[in-house]
Amino acid sequence: MKVIRGGHNASASTPWSEHFTGTAWMDLVLREQLGEEGDGELVVTTVTFTPGVRTHWHRHEGGQLLLVVAGHGWVGSRDGGTQVVSAGDVIWTPPGEEHWHGATNTTTLTHVAVTLGETRWFDEVVDVIPSP
Ligand code: MN
Repeated sequence: MKVIRGGHNASASTPWSEHFTGTAWMDLVLREQLGEEGDGELVVTTVTFTPGVRTHWHRHEGGQLLLVVAGHGWVGSRDGGTQVVSAGDVIWTPPGEEHWHGATNTTTLTHVAVTLGETRWFDEVVDVIPSP
């Protein structure tokens, strides 16, 4: 058992722009090996997207749970279109499903991301962004 006080490890927030349309800010909460070597990792992060910042298309080998804790944003998938999400919303993306997430054009979005296994990145989202 591990108790993590306050969700942050007293380290500086990390700017993250590779595979994003701008800079998102990430705080690592937890990183744990799953099962045996080669079974992948569980990674928990708190991510804050500034207005207009979104991920590129990507997928997670073991799926991903997003818990929206503040602000408003969008999530999109190849089949499910684009949806607005707000604080309190919970989004489960199954293993391998291509998707993206991020802030609307006018608001920030903060979510906790529980990510299972490796993430594979693809192109920027271009044609499915809702109008502001
Ligand atoms: Mn994701």
